[in-house]
Amino acid sequence: MLAELKTILDIQEIDMKMIRLLRLRKERMKEIEQIDVLRAELSVQLEEKNKEVEALTLEIQVLEEKITEINSRIKRLEAQQGGVKKVDEFNALTQEITQTERERINLEHKISDLVDRKNSEDEILVKIRDSLQASEQSSLALQEEIRSTLEEIQSEGHSLFVERENCVHHADVSVLKIYERLLHNKKDRVVVPIENRICTGCHISLTAQHENIVRKSGHLVFCEHCSRIHYWPDTPEASEESSPKRRRKRKAV
Ligand SMILES: [Zn+2]
Repeated sequence: MLAELKTILDIQEIDMKMIRLLRLRKERMKEIEQIDVLRAELSVQLEEKNKEVEALTLEIQVLEEKITEINSRIKRLEAQQGGVKKVDEFNALTQEITQTERERINLEHKISDLVDRKNSEDEILVKIRDSLQASEQSSLALQEEIRSTLEEIQSEGHSLFVERENCVHHADVSVLKIYERLLHNKKDRVVVPIENRICTGCHISLTAQHENIVRKSGHLVFCEHCSRIHYWPDTPEASEESSPKRRRKRKAV
């Protein structure tokens, strides 16, 4: 393997850890965001439900006032009827009273329906309020947990940074530059070994000629498919075909 690549491989491992950390941090931030979105949605639902219940309450109130009005109208009609002498007038008043009573029954049905609706809306309102409260509590706990994870990530990131700085000190400047440009594009390992004549970065087969060049070359060789830098693993095992590993049988004691 090219000597310059050894340091780059060390840097690459640090960078992979750093990328994992950054991804983890992003995920955790997203979790917080999702909780906030959920809470905002619940708040909107709660507000809407409150308005619905208020409107129903008002509607019921108006209808109840109408019934009071109707009751006094019936009383008036009954009193009027008491003073009437002619049969025609008496019958006409009876008819009016019956009609007014029918009106009252209709209104009472309406009110009863509205009360049923209001009760079920009330139940939903309570449920929304409960889940909002629960989500507020759980999000507080989660935020606390996430904050401590983020602190850990921060400190781990810092030690990785220091470690990387030490490695960079020993790295070949031009190779490092190429490596960093590739890493920036791929966000993945960009210095990869050839195994079984396959690029372990893009998993595409390579020619024997290419393999030979990597094996013997004193300069950087790039994968013609994914542009990653290839190297030939120093340890013979790493490039061997997946030969069955010898298992040492433990002797029975
Ligand atoms: Zn490749």
